[in-house]
Amino acid sequence: MELSGMIRTTRDHTSWDMKIFQVKVQKNGYCSTIPFACLIVFSILIIVSIVPQKSVIFKVNEGDAKIKVLAGGAAQTDDTISEVLDSGNVSYQQLLNELFAPGFDKGSCLSRYEAILYRKPSPHKPSLYLIAKLRTYESLHNHCGPYTESYNKTLEQLKSGRNIGTTGCNYVVYTPLSGLGNMMLSVASAFLYAFLTNRVLLVEFGREIADLFCEPFPNTTWLLPMDFPLRNQFENFRQEYPRTYGNMLKKRIINISMKSPPPAFLYLYLAYNIDRYDELFYCDQNQDQLQKVPWLVIKSNQYFVPSLFLVPSFHQELSKLFPDQETVFHHVGRYLFQPSNEAWGLITRFYQAYLSKADERIGIQVRVFDTKTTPFQTVMDQILSCTLKDKLLPEVLDVHNSVASLSNNQSLKAVLVTSLYSEYYEYIKGMYWTRPTVSGEVIGVFQPSHEEHELYGNKMHSMKAWTEIYLLSMSDVLITSSWSTFGYVAQSLGSLKPWILYRPFNGTTPDPPCVQAMSMEPCFHFPPRYGCKAKVNIDEGAIVPHVKHCEDVGWGLKLVKDH
Ligand code: GDP
Repeated sequence: MELSGMIRTTRDHTSWDMKIFQVKVQKNGYCSTIPFACLIVFSILIIVSIVPQKSVIFKVNEGDAKIKVLAGGAAQTDDTISEVLDSGNVSYQQLLNELFAPGFDKGSCLSRYEAILYRKPSPHKPSLYLIAKLRTYESLHNHCGPYTESYNKTLEQLKSGRNIGTTGCNYVVYTPLSGLGNMMLSVASAFLYAFLTNRVLLVEFGREIADLFCEPFPNTTWLLPMDFPLRNQFENFRQEYPRTYGNMLKKRIINISMKSPPPAFLYLYLAYNIDRYDELFYCDQNQDQLQKVPWLVIKSNQYFVPSLFLVPSFHQELSKLFPDQETVFHHVGRYLFQPSNEAWGLITRFYQAYLSKADERIGIQVRVFDTKTTPFQTVMDQILSCTLKDKLLPEVLDVHNSVASLSNNQSLKAVLVTSLYSEYYEYIKGMYWTRPTVSGEVIGVFQPSHEEHELYGNKMHSMKAWTEIYLLSMSDVLITSSWSTFGYVAQSLGSLKPWILYRPFNGTTPDPPCVQAMSMEPCFHFPPRYGCKAKVNIDEGAIVPHVKHCEDVGWGLKLVKDH
């Protein structure tokens, strides 16, 4: 006899402690007729209920009885996810490792459910503490998000300019600067800061950015409403803007031992050109002061997470959230930045057409910051020197000796080139088309777009950039360019330690041409140098073992795994 009915468990995902736990038995009546089978079923459910989020699909064979139980919250997912789960290709644990909250409408964000079918599962499991805290954050965002009662109340404070006590809701408003890679890194940093200080993150994105991503938090939005009262001030918000926290400290409009009530809002300038006063943001004492301000507006184009790890009061929480310090952007980035359906279409169509059949995928990201001082041939020689020396790509036979022999090695390598320009792709494609490889491997070379110029405010341009970042993150091996946040995002999302091409100076090819990254984390290009206690500039790369200087930016900081 086969007990083929599926038994599903549902529970309230807004609470971590599994208070509500319903059981739906789709085929009724078995318990009266098959008490033994029911005993097995309920034993399993009890195990499931006390070990939440751990186990996934149980298959129990007891004689003829075959029972499948979706556990740990999968039951609140919709039918389509169940189908994916039932296909046996992916487990709920894998979905959970992607950190997403159950309860989303699948159709509104296909990538959230389908990404695991395209890319290798992350080898880095998030801590249960991080998962729990994300669910708590999502509840807070639901409570305080745009147009909730609490949000409307805090807006009144803003409009009156007075901080009239707490509503239980405090905010970080992120306002962008620079290209897509910079923006994604600084949004992730702002989110982590909000997360650490119990604030809600709202982002000021135009449609050209908002349309690239799914909403990350269920049943609410992270987009700053158009009628947000401070919006019309944002265009004046630069380093020299008198209302920044740094400038107000400098001019002594506020000071650290401020007795008067804290202001309703403050501007925090955390971009590439911060000065000594803006840097005070990273001091514990100043964090105590900022904690009392309901609205903090952050402008940044930096990945400022490594310096958050150096703020003593954040240290303990960060070590619980990220026991492996190297995985911060990997987890936070995967959680926040799910491609929208439109972006997912571009990604999956390109992947299926050009990359999916390859035995190995090699991504080469060529970012040339100054074409006048960086000749094409210099960079091309550098790419070849790096990839051939480290055997990332095979050598080709001399053209005069090019009658291809039938090699046993017929494996296919797909090379994905991303660049604003087409000549690197043309060169590599031509090289492998006109000559056979020494190894016999077949090499396909592809480039999705070559936009020629950086554009701001253009949706299709940003969409292509996001598509290419994501496709690079699906590589098995990655080669990136120094200083490029575009490459940093790809490497961290893909859990890859790339070979970084050193930046050429004076038109000459660097020697060595590249170095393999010690960690997949992005580099914080312009960290603070001011030591809060020492009250002089200090070497922030020498304080703790998990914050080191970057390979490509000598004074930059990056997180590495603390062995
Ligand atoms: P970074 O300047 O290299 O740190 O990266 P950003 O992403 O912050 O800014 C560069 C911008 O130039 C991107 O956002 C894109 O708009 C554009 N861009 C640079 N390289 C590429 C590329 O390889 N492909 C595409 N499609 N756009 C690129």
